[in-house]
Parts: sequence; C-alpha cells; structure tokens
Amino acid sequence: MDRLGGDERVKRLAAALKSGAKLRTESCPECGSPLVEVKGEVMCAVCEKPVVIVRDETEAGRAVYPYVLSALEEVAVAKIDELTRILARTGDPDEIERLAEAIDALITVLRKGMELQESLKRKE
Ligand SMILES: [Zn+2]
Repeated sequence: MDRLGGDERVKRLAAALKSGAKLRTESCPECGSPLVEVKGEVMCAVCEKPVVIVRDETEAGRAVYPYVLSALEEVAVAKIDELTRILARTGDPDEIERLAEAIDALITVLRKGMELQESLKRKE
C-alpha cells in the first residue's frame, strides 16, 4: 500500500461517510484509520478494502498477545537488570536471598513469556 498523506486519508474517509457509510469504533489494522461500515460490510475507506472484525474474545486476546508479551519481556528484563545491580551492592544474606528469589521468579516469567511467544509464532 502507498503511504497516504493525512489529507488524502481524511478525504477518503469523509467521502465514504458522505456516501452513507457508518463510522465504527474499530481502526484499520494496516493504516490505523477508523473503519467504516457500508451495507453491513466493515471496511477501511483509506485502504479501500474490507476488514474482518474479530468478534471472538479469545481471538481478540490472541491478537494482542504478542504485544503484551513483548511488553512483559521488556519489563522483566529491566527488573532483572535493576535487581542484579542491587544484588551486586548488597552484602546482607537475607537481602541476597530475597533478591535471588525475585530474579528467579522474573526469569521464570521471562522464559514462559518467550515460550508462549514461540508457540504463537508456530501457529501463524
Ligand atoms: Zn486502512
């Protein structure tokens, strides 16, 4: 798809609405423009193609999994880094134990997240 300027996008959307299309709350997965509904069919006026709306909640959940998982991964890595620094500074055995447990838990989270991401990739 060509990269359209904002003006052209607005123009196409406005033209669709003028010709009787209804504005939907969802946005186009490709260009991010609001979707419209024409005669019961949901489409993107900017890309000029129909868009399948995911109604099933599990499917919708699956669609956001990769984003959630990479966010989770980022947070877990940042926390492990943070805790590792604290661990390096401390000499208190209790604190070391607590930190080691926390790091261990984070690594588990990270590993499970990566496994889940891998299994999602295989399904595609
Ligand atoms: Zn689009």
